Amino acid sequence: MDLLAQIEALTVSQLATLSKRDDATGILAEYRLAALTNSPAPSRETVVTGEGYAIVAANGELKRLEVDGYYATSDDAEDRLEEIRYFENAVIREGSFVSWNSSGGRARGKVERILLEGSVKVPGTSFTINAEPDNPAVLIRLWRKTADGWNETDTVVGHKMSTLTSIEPLSKESFEPPLGVQESGQQALDWIAEGHAGDGFTDVGRARASQLARGDNVSRETIGRMASFLARHEGNSSAEGWNYGEDGFPSPGRVAYEAWGGAEGKTWADSIMGREKAACPIATYSVPVNLKNRQTAIEVADYGPLNPGLPNDEYWEHLATYFDVTPVEARSTVCGNCAAFDQTSHIEDCIVEGLSGDSEDPYDVVEQGDLGYCRVFKFKCASARTCSAWIAGGPIVDDEPLELAKAKFVRKSEDRQFTLGPLYVPDFMDAHGEWTDPDTLQAAVWGWVNSGDRRIFLQHDRDVEAGSWVEVMTMPQPWTVDMLGSDGSVAGEVTYPAGTVFLGVIWNDESWAKIKRGELRGYSIGGMAGSVYAEMPEDAVREGVEVPG
Ligand code: SF4
Repeated sequence: MDLLAQIEALTVSQLATLSKRDDATGILAEYRLAALTNSPAPSRETVVTGEGYAIVAANGELKRLEVDGYYATSDDAEDRLEEIRYFENAVIREGSFVSWNSSGGRARGKVERILLEGSVKVPGTSFTINAEPDNPAVLIRLWRKTADGWNETDTVVGHKMSTLTSIEPLSKESFEPPLGVQESGQQALDWIAEGHAGDGFTDVGRARASQLARGDNVSRETIGRMASFLARHEGNSSAEGWNYGEDGFPSPGRVAYEAWGGAEGKTWADSIMGREKAACPIATYSVPVNLKNRQTAIEVADYGPLNPGLPNDEYWEHLATYFDVTPVEARSTVCGNCAAFDQTSHIEDCIVEGLSGDSEDPYDVVEQGDLGYCRVFKFKCASARTCSAWIAGGPIVDDEPLELAKAKFVRKSEDRQFTLGPLYVPDFMDAHGEWTDPDTLQAAVWGWVNSGDRRIFLQHDRDVEAGSWVEVMTMPQPWTVDMLGSDGSVAGEVTYPAGTVFLGVIWNDESWAKIKRGELRGYSIGGMAGSVYAEMPEDAVREGVEVPG
């Protein structure tokens, strides 16, 4: 069974977990999940190769291609696939976009009709074009660039096929290469003509150089491929012949790099890809898309409960059965601590902007619902809800752990697989809307210590041991400590109130790997307790944060 067949055999919940991985398998899982949940196509791309085949996740499609021979690296396979794509696109068909020389410069349009024989009258003119099987007559609808991008016009023109060049589809998302990128393309064409391209140089490289040199529009997909190609081949810059004055300059590697836009092209493509990444997800501003994706989460993964303020016993029992945990443990698995729950300031800005036409105070709406964005099902959700695709380790927040609510480990020791961090902060509302006072907390901790049970479990799952605690301390005074950023560097100081319980844990190998990958970022206290509704005391540390400086 190849990797694609294995991915296709997974459940939505398994795919949701796998799709978080930052590798080819994670990307394949993300594509499969998007197809099953009818979600927008992922932006990541990958190619996984095997003997005689390649699995391609690109342009919103997940497919298995038969290819000749075996590719030792995915770079080789990507280059080969680029060739396949090029030859597929190079054939001019009805519906293809083309360009041709006209009196006003290079004109562009979409092919409406191709005639292999006879003759055709160009609409609105007295011209007739004769068609031949080896040089057909082509009717083309003219496209023009306006302030909001490329648009079709009412004009239809006619040309012989031999005068046309296939170009990428025009759309409002077409990008015109800047002058520096056009110059790189022309430089590559000159070097190719001088014989510097080498035997392995492909028609794709030649076509890309011509496209850029002509200043032809480039689609979003090609921008992505340019960014990927130039990043992959940038490593060749240390080889002899890359720079002017070196033996063998320009090397074939340098010619290929320039054909894809060179350094100017990389800056250009990276900036467009970077801009795209910063764009708001559609569901944050489109109500129909948000509702559709939310409905998918309900149908596929039991997103709920409808009103988290109610007991919803049936719902939690159902989820507990699904996760094979107790209902109490199931209640602790909420969007608010799910690894797919995005509460970064960027997302908050997007949600606020999306609500601003419908709500007087969108910030209040976001705060009241403790809203975030679900990256699995791609909709706005509230922190108190959950679904069966819940993933431990969230939420996703800005990488600035300067607030108590976001404070995680304060010390990590790689050698001993040890972490020290706050276990629980008294008089502070936790992610589940619960809190406790210092005395109750200390009594609970003493009871736990007296039990002699030193085991630490993974995500409240009592079947999976993650390590053992080696020290625990209730701080009698407020304590100001350095907080660690995700890269282990000091990100700032946080002051914990008196009565905060700190815990030191030595982790097993598996859990330590999760900590290093950022999948485990702090402790979560577990246990049985009766809960009552109560007002927080007025002097309680509600926001709990005192950030010096
Ligand atoms: S954020 Fe919520 S809805 Fe989305 S996967 Fe996590 S638990 Fe499910």
